[in-house]
Amino acid sequence: MRYKEIVEEIYESVIGEENSGRLATYIPELAKVNPDNFGVHLSTIDGENVGVGDCCQRFSIQSIAKVLSLSLAYKKLGERIWGRLGVEPSGTSFNSLVQLEADKGIPRNPFINAGALVICDILITLLDNPKEDFLTYIRDLSDNPTLDYSSVIAESEQSVGYRNIALCHFIKSFGNIKNDPMEVLDFYFNLCSLEMDGRELTHTFLFLANGGRKLDGTEILNGSQTKRINALMQTCGFYDESGEFSFKVGLPGKSGVGGGIIAIHPNRYTIGVWSPKLNDKGNSYRGIKFLERFTTHTKLSIF
Ligand code: GLU
Repeated sequence: MRYKEIVEEIYESVIGEENSGRLATYIPELAKVNPDNFGVHLSTIDGENVGVGDCCQRFSIQSIAKVLSLSLAYKKLGERIWGRLGVEPSGTSFNSLVQLEADKGIPRNPFINAGALVICDILITLLDNPKEDFLTYIRDLSDNPTLDYSSVIAESEQSVGYRNIALCHFIKSFGNIKNDPMEVLDFYFNLCSLEMDGRELTHTFLFLANGGRKLDGTEILNGSQTKRINALMQTCGFYDESGEFSFKVGLPGKSGVGGGIIAIHPNRYTIGVWSPKLNDKGNSYRGIKFLERFTTHTKLSIF
């Protein structure tokens, strides 16, 4: 496949068109990002790498990190994890409180904020030093000791994190948060503040395209767990636009309100796109447009 030419060609076509949408201004620091940043990076399981535009500039990966926290919690807890949260698309926005009342504090899936907070709670119970141990996990996964949280982003989000604070306490009232909600929230805000550039992002996620193994053969998840995480990304990775993303792009993926998207083609590649302007559903406007054209042009999707 002529990945380089195809990525460059589609990048040129998308950057030449309007850049619609809005920055995630509800987190003050994210409102300061240049709205015209646009980068794409692709890594194949055969070791090919293609990058274009702002693919070497780090950005806030936000909810994309929820796939990584889920991976670690799933590896440690196994199938018991599904007693604490579901695997269904929510059909409501990522920070919604309404469903939790009817569902008695059991979040619909691990990628909405409520589910990610429960995963943080699970990791706090399982890890000696949650923030440090999680960072070590990410650095090992990516073979990159420079990856880090951004204290500026974490503090910025914490300063206005009223909905997440409400969510965490609400879930606690049903007994599905076991630890101190403030500790869970601190871990959650740091998790969301992780920064990566396009290449770091696609490298970190390659294990999900490679049957759960890093390219050096180290097992991160077994085959069944890998299948399930990819399935969750397919059905729940784009808030209440997951059906639309599946329809247009046809790959498992996960977005974040920093404007990043990671998409996985099992047994082939990972592709990361970053463009900070978000559509009405909170997903990168250019990111979705790029990926739709990419899978259409290459005829490579899982369907
Ligand atoms: N830190 C963000 C929040 O909790 C994550 C949202 C996202 O990227 O989906 O609002």
